[in-house]
Amino acid sequence: MSLDPLLRPKSVAVIGASRREGTLGREILRNLVSFGFEGPVYTVHPKSSHVLSMPAWPTVADLPEAVDLAIVVVPSAKVLEVVQACADRGVKALVVITAGFKEVSESGRALEQQILEIVRKHDMRMVGPNCMGIINCDPKVRLDASFGSTLPLGGNAAFASQSGALGEIVLATAKAVRLGLSHFVSLGNRADVSSNDLLEFWADDPETGVIMLYLESFGNPRHFGRIAREVTRQRGKPILAVKSGRTRQGARAASSHTGSLAGGDRAASALFKSCGVIRCDTVAELFDLGRGFCTQPLPGGKRVGILTNAGGPGIMATDAAVHFGLDMADLQPDTQVTMRKVLPVEASVANPVDMIASATAPQYRVCSEALLRDPGVDALLAIFVSPIVTDKLQVTRALIEGVQAAGQNKPVLACFMGFDAQDEGITLLADAGIPNYPFPDAAARTLAAMHRFQAYRDEPEGKPVRFKVDKAKAKALIDGAKAQGREWLDGAAAMELLQAYGVPTVESRRVHTPDEAIAFADALGYPVVLKLDSEQVVHKSDVGGVKVDLRSPGEIKGAFWDLQQRLNELGVTDAAFLVQRMVAGGQETIIGAVADETVGHLLMFGLGGVFVELMKDVAFAVHPLTDADADRMLREVRGWPLLAGHRGSAPRDVALLREVLLRLDQLVGDFPVIAEMDLNPFMAAPVGQGSVAVDARVRLSSR
Ligand code: ADP
Ligand code: MG
Repeated sequence: MSLDPLLRPKSVAVIGASRREGTLGREILRNLVSFGFEGPVYTVHPKSSHVLSMPAWPTVADLPEAVDLAIVVVPSAKVLEVVQACADRGVKALVVITAGFKEVSESGRALEQQILEIVRKHDMRMVGPNCMGIINCDPKVRLDASFGSTLPLGGNAAFASQSGALGEIVLATAKAVRLGLSHFVSLGNRADVSSNDLLEFWADDPETGVIMLYLESFGNPRHFGRIAREVTRQRGKPILAVKSGRTRQGARAASSHTGSLAGGDRAASALFKSCGVIRCDTVAELFDLGRGFCTQPLPGGKRVGILTNAGGPGIMATDAAVHFGLDMADLQPDTQVTMRKVLPVEASVANPVDMIASATAPQYRVCSEALLRDPGVDALLAIFVSPIVTDKLQVTRALIEGVQAAGQNKPVLACFMGFDAQDEGITLLADAGIPNYPFPDAAARTLAAMHRFQAYRDEPEGKPVRFKVDKAKAKALIDGAKAQGREWLDGAAAMELLQAYGVPTVESRRVHTPDEAIAFADALGYPVVLKLDSEQVVHKSDVGGVKVDLRSPGEIKGAFWDLQQRLNELGVTDAAFLVQRMVAGGQETIIGAVADETVGHLLMFGLGGVFVELMKDVAFAVHPLTDADADRMLREVRGWPLLAGHRGSAPRDVALLREVLLRLDQLVGDFPVIAEMDLNPFMAAPVGQGSVAVDARVRLSSR
């Protein structure tokens, strides 16, 4: 059922409204009234005939109408009874403020479950329990059903917080920095309404232009990904999120490289990236970015123009802009001439434009307009440090006039340093819709995020790709390993699994004796590689279990002897050996997949060797991949130039690398039982020169 009765109710009842000062029930009632709710507010109180001068009814059943929304603030032991009464009275939606459920005890969890059952049975919607309430600032609604001590400022940012305590801070901060809210929802235990429901609702809400989330966990990550992508791509509404709380994945010891690299928070980041959600590390950053997104158009490109009356901050801004991935705009000669006419010779008219400390309001006016009119400038960052001789209000007005005169649809961010948000000049800026940042780095970071969002929307979404594969063969291999009680596929089976899914692998044979090895090598041609194949040895070269570049039957015999020695020392009994063609000249890459317990399978790409081991230079994306996702993964690693052809080195077959990623994606989609897998290395050769996997590891989940 829709969230309309919850967020756009026609009538509200407060159940547990209290006459006592300082109680939650009374605070909520007071907020409802002071914020000017557009419909009737009823109160339910067992003994009093009125609360806060409003008439009260003794029970829910006595209410004169079936209200859309009931706010429940009774003690936890009474909640079940009240919710049932609301259902019987035809109430459509609930906000349960009361705490003491799933978050405190098993019996609390059971009680919460019973409440949820009533809600579901009667087709109601519920926020909470254990939350601080909900707010809708739409002038047609004006609902503040929270016990926050700050009455919010209306605007276009919808905010959902999983933490109630943070909610109060969010409301206070939003007001202090003049970030206007459309809706605010404190999610609490999310028994019924989740952040996903809200995303769906806000996607279509005309009052909401930007969505801000504070999350500790995803309800249903796949669902989140789908809706978020719809919101960001189709509706063009940015989603900014702080996600705290690390996944348990990190704690579990993983055996593959992919598995160990996927630990910690990579899964959440990969999920966010796949659906264009902008992740913020801190709540402070969330607000910085939020103010930019809420007030400014997105930049058409990443070239920023910086205007300043002080050198130091101009340099700081330049450094930060470049650091966050923006470019400094090259100014056109016309622009420079226009500025030069009004500026003294000591000023610099190259970007960053330093008007020096004597800068006047008229100079700000001319230069801001000139910079914004320059076709090579996508965004303006205007810095002002207040010298005693300059009137800051005049400068503020001049900047606003310059921006208006330019009449460009380009973002403008101010960095008027050394003023607090309540300062008159800053308020003037805010009224003109220009966000101010106390330091240039926050402004630059905000612009960079806005550019990234625009770039994400401009990028093709890509499409899923399905290959013709031998699924039956793959199933037989996996079933076979399971039947033998194996956790890891043996080396030969892992190679066959890849072949079944069309991934090129090096010629390889599983052997038990030197004669078998020599026979295969003779047929293949030298040199060859001989390596251990044992479930007990996961990292073969760590124990000296890989012998490369064997050039004769004699060398094979010697290598066999050595490996046999190693096995005896290790006490390994289940070993066989793999003989392979020796691949020369390939760039080692690692391609893998791992099942994350929250977001499902993650795919990984990186360059092999030190790149992955020391630098952890890898890219993750969530299953299912589109072709565009696979492309992005390849380009995302810092070592990408080595594949694209760095300094005359031959470019590698990146189309094939992309295809291998997509084929693995299809494999793990078809067989969720694959817990982790690595192609390490996959040798990337130039086009047509035989790129192949030479080592593959596949671990099956025990479930
Ligand atoms: P492990 O990862 O278990 O140590 P690998 O089979 O990946 O064992 O071998 C270790 C290294 O030996 C590889 O990273 C690669 O550099 C090299 N190597 C292994 N097999 C081949 C091969 N067939 N051709 C060329 N080099 C190989
Ligand atoms: Mg390996």
